[in-house]
Amino acid sequence: MSETSKPGNFITQIIDKDNETGKHGGKVLTRFPPEPNGYLHIGHAKSICLNFGIAERYQGQCNLRFDDTNPEKESVEYIESIKGDVEWLGFTWKDEPKFASDYFDQLHDFAVQLIELGKAYVCELNAEQMREYRGTLKEPGKNSPYRDRSIGENLALFNDMKAGKFADGDVVLRAKIDMASPNINLRDPIIYRVRHVHHHQTGDKWCVYPMYDFTHGLSDAIEGVTHSICTLEFQDHRPLYDWILESLGTFHPQQIEFARLNLNYTVTSKRKLKQLVDEKHVTGWDDPRMPTISGMRRRGYTAASIRNFCERIGVTKSDSVVDVGMLEHAIREDLDANANRAMAVLNPIKVVLTNYPENKEEIFTVSNHPKNEAAGQRQVPFSKELYIDAADFAEVPPRKWKRLTLDGAVRLRGGYVITCDEVIKNHAGEVIELRCRYDENTLGVNPEGYKPKGVIHWVSAQHALDATVNLYDRLFDNEAPDANYADKTFLDFINPESLTVLSGAKVEPSLAQAAKGQGFQFEREGYFCRDAKEEGLIFNRTVTLRDSWAKIEAKGK
Ligand code: ATP
Ligand code: MG
Repeated sequence: MSETSKPGNFITQIIDKDNETGKHGGKVLTRFPPEPNGYLHIGHAKSICLNFGIAERYQGQCNLRFDDTNPEKESVEYIESIKGDVEWLGFTWKDEPKFASDYFDQLHDFAVQLIELGKAYVCELNAEQMREYRGTLKEPGKNSPYRDRSIGENLALFNDMKAGKFADGDVVLRAKIDMASPNINLRDPIIYRVRHVHHHQTGDKWCVYPMYDFTHGLSDAIEGVTHSICTLEFQDHRPLYDWILESLGTFHPQQIEFARLNLNYTVTSKRKLKQLVDEKHVTGWDDPRMPTISGMRRRGYTAASIRNFCERIGVTKSDSVVDVGMLEHAIREDLDANANRAMAVLNPIKVVLTNYPENKEEIFTVSNHPKNEAAGQRQVPFSKELYIDAADFAEVPPRKWKRLTLDGAVRLRGGYVITCDEVIKNHAGEVIELRCRYDENTLGVNPEGYKPKGVIHWVSAQHALDATVNLYDRLFDNEAPDANYADKTFLDFINPESLTVLSGAKVEPSLAQAAKGQGFQFEREGYFCRDAKEEGLIFNRTVTLRDSWAKIEAKGK
């Protein structure tokens, strides 16, 4: 669907109105402004789809701008991953990526201008005093004793700050707004602080760094952003955003807030995701269980499925929690339509066809996709010894059993009907081999007189390839791992079954050609992709064929 034909939302209504009144001469420029202090997650995907999607809808543009005012927490690794993720999602930003740090000189000059206007002052209260003076939601704050310094004194002190004459935390530059404002963000917020730290973009040039609120609106203004879209928690910061731009008389973008994406069974705070990585609860930011874009990509999510999901959840102004089942549905739907089928036996047991000639080998030609001829066909070898999944045989079958059982028949997908005559067990009583008969008249046709109830998948033992299959599941087994619990943290809800490694899987030989990252439906097992990172034949389960969690939840209620 093209962007213009998609349904609108309250933000496109605002833009439509602006375009009618000619507010920005029809121009639409948005931006996606990540802090490079972690990898992007599914929540960011919503913001990316929204900002870049709006730019496309109005034939405008979207900037990628790194909000890099916190150098201690940021890194070039994060910057590179963010660029890669936005591109992978299918979006192109305007010109080169931008950095708030590109504007440090301008931001410094804006701060000087505020001082000259009598609207900023250097304050020497320490952090604790600052808290005391700030007041509370119920009580107004008190003016700092440094609030009425002369403009000249402030200019000299700010210059000293910049020249490195103060240690970290000794002094700050504050906006002079209103210590009695009911909005705490307007109680003389800090706009510059001293930090003697190296910055990944500007090196050691600066020992003063602007605060986020000061930086953000001015960066928007410098770039000529028309609509500055952010999440709801910034609603209370909008008066400050507006105050800064009005005080300095710059171009004035409009800040518009929308509800962030919250997903059940999922944690999307960068701090917590970093904790999962740092404490090695997962293998890295791109662990396939992580809700990061890179993790989801490695899990086998496609960019289209993530974009479709973001489209469906829509954009509103009220907070809600989205069922992660909707995200899983989006990838299932995409892979069902677009992924080739293949046969993989995850927990193999051997089947010997007693009446099949010893050295015979047949090649069956099967469709790659049942509903899409264009996906072509592939060849699957067949021989006397096969593997089927242990779960597809039951000596004592439960009711309505449609798979293989002793003296029962089943069809091999794309092959013959077989009947089981004998079960061979080891000392522990486990089934290790089945002796079966095949009916040579059943290739593609049902035997006369009866129809086998079930169809199972299989691989030829001598042709099969060894593979490792990672069965991934949800990382948390609690609906709200992130909520406030008296005696638990989100770490207590890590699903112990979020990863099961099957190292003895047997897969059909065509899978040797699977490209890294390529997705498949393993017949009857689920959707998988070849791991894009590790060498060898490793497949990650993207999602099961059906939503098994919905059943668990229904039972629990
Ligand atoms: P986190 O809380 O995960 O640390 P953040 O807001 O601090 O996120 P930023 O790097 O500042 O992370 O986010 C960049 C952009 O993505 C911002 O505009 C932010 O509002 C948006 N964003 C972050 N999380 C979500 C979310 N869950 N849903 C929608 N947008 C989000
Ligand atoms: Mg942020």
